[in-house]
Amino acid sequence: MRDTSKHQGLRNQLAKLLEQKGIYDEKVLNTIRNIPRHLFIDSSFEDHAYQDKAFPILADQTISQPYTVAFQTQMLSIKPGDKVLEIGTGSGYQTAVLLELKAEVYSIERQHELFKRTSLFLPKIGYKPKKFIFGDGYKGFPEKAPYDKIIVTAGAPYVPKPLLSQLKVGGMLLIPVGDKTQIMTSFVRKSLKEFEKEELGNFAFVPMLEKKN
Ligand code: SAH
Repeated sequence: MRDTSKHQGLRNQLAKLLEQKGIYDEKVLNTIRNIPRHLFIDSSFEDHAYQDKAFPILADQTISQPYTVAFQTQMLSIKPGDKVLEIGTGSGYQTAVLLELKAEVYSIERQHELFKRTSLFLPKIGYKPKKFIFGDGYKGFPEKAPYDKIIVTAGAPYVPKPLLSQLKVGGMLLIPVGDKTQIMTSFVRKSLKEFEKEELGNFAFVPMLEKKN
């Protein structure tokens, strides 16, 4: 596993492109500049690593498009020490972004092969979440609730109730909702019973699945 000045140059270009597309949070742009995304995809496809597009990984899943990762992270305005629940570990790239921002991350993946691979790989390159969880994101992770932020990185047909209930008051759930394409939707918990909902535009994700295959 190598990271070279060529990779660094490509990352700087990618960060510049994301800035042009509307990402303004310098801390988020820095995570894009720092994280060796080419290590998260099969090495024979390294050339694709720093283009702004999603790419296939194991088990018919994808590593999210860099713009999408940056957009979701920017929306969440992660602060050091934030307790964050991530649904859909996948390649672990979004997890690494959250960890670069010094969040305490709990990350859930339902696909066993990906769970195994990513929970070995991420710590190896220096990214250590509090816990990798093999399980169903629809249930959240009540053991460590409540969370400051909950991020869903798969397209959800509806908003799972447990995720709303595992938010701190003042916390935010960010979830792409819809079947074929999704509307990025944020829910800020105003009180125990009140949530403020906002719709933030269209995105495309692989589906959030409900039953284990
Ligand atoms: N952030 C990841 C996105 C991976 S794609 C990355 O950039 O690599 C979405 C991931 O969500 C897939 O790995 C998929 O297996 C996972 N997923 C789908 N449904 C899920 C569920 N119900 N619970 C947990 N993970 C789920």
